[in-house]
Amino acid sequence: MSEVVLDGVVKRYGRVTALAGADLSVPSGQLTAVLGPSGCGKTTLLRCLAGFERLDGGEIRIDGAVVAGGGRHLPAHRRRIAVVPQEGALFPHLRVAENVGYGLDRATRRTDRVEEVLALVGLAGYGDRMPHQLSGGQQQRVAVARALAPRPSVVLLDEPFSALDAGLRAGLRHDVREALRADGATGVLVTHDQGEALSVADKVVVLRDGRVVQAAAPTTVYREPADPWVAGFVGDAVLLPAIVESGTARTALGVLPVAGAVADGPVTVLLRPEQIRLAAGAGGVTGTVLRHDFHGHDALVGLRLGDGTAITARVLDGAAVPMDGEVGVRVDGAARVFPVDTDRRVPVDLAA
Ligand code: ADP
Ligand code: MG
Repeated sequence: MSEVVLDGVVKRYGRVTALAGADLSVPSGQLTAVLGPSGCGKTTLLRCLAGFERLDGGEIRIDGAVVAGGGRHLPAHRRRIAVVPQEGALFPHLRVAENVGYGLDRATRRTDRVEEVLALVGLAGYGDRMPHQLSGGQQQRVAVARALAPRPSVVLLDEPFSALDAGLRAGLRHDVREALRADGATGVLVTHDQGEALSVADKVVVLRDGRVVQAAAPTTVYREPADPWVAGFVGDAVLLPAIVESGTARTALGVLPVAGAVADGPVTVLLRPEQIRLAAGAGGVTGTVLRHDFHGHDALVGLRLGDGTAITARVLDGAAVPMDGEVGVRVDGAARVFPVDTDRRVPVDLAA
């Protein structure tokens, strides 16, 4: 159990600045997800933490002790940090138990620690198998067991499930979270998959262009994103221009209550598609149904309002909403408000 802190960490590769002053704290005994698009610096952050890269600025502390920065660079093998890479991490010529016991000192290897961590990842009794006798998901479980075995200060997982199919991934990430928790381990999971980060992490750190733009509980990141870019990255977002007047926002969807205290003036409001309710023949605002994206458990319905504004609603029964039909549109709950133009890089299709 260890607390890890990154303080203004800078890492450059030649002219590329991969980390541009990243601040981050990883609470002890918890799983922290680092979430961001491809190329935002996630792997670089893990490599700096693990000690595979030297910093160009800032500092990394583990339990208050500086391990990197200010001229210090504790080598990787002295940081007690374990890394679970994306795939292919096992020694193909060693049995499962030998893979798991590889990094252990002789005394620990003689205890039942190997069997213990194999049981934690759901592979009790698999110690005698060879890696090629396991499925991809089982191999990743072994990689997690191997990382946990020496009781490291921190376990770093770099997109460890991304090579597996979707069905397997959901079960595995849940089991891995439980294994880390049962062992009291501190974990950092790097992923570009917002569903993965929101569903397993105690804390989500959103990284963009080498900087942390938000660090909070999953529900907070989803419900109170730091800016419109985060809103669109962590979920489906409906972003609308609006005018705030005495605590309410005038939008194409009518006058909406606003979350928090907001000064009068032009703003951008955020609604989640599940806040938008559709009802046949209702009065008030209406929209024309343009498209359906069926997702099994629900559907996203794209609509165009009378003034041309495009919005998206999440509905449980997409079949009940006729294509090309006219439906009533109503909003549940409060809108979140952002200053106009805080972020010109909002993808234009967010509201489409
Ligand atoms: P992520 O894991 O989020 O996809 P990375 O940390 O791998 O991002 O990369 C961040 C940035 O640094 C990218 O622009 C990438 O091209 C660059 N980069 C990463 N590793 C190197 C390297 N060894 N040499 C040069 N550029 C690199
Ligand atoms: Mg990466």
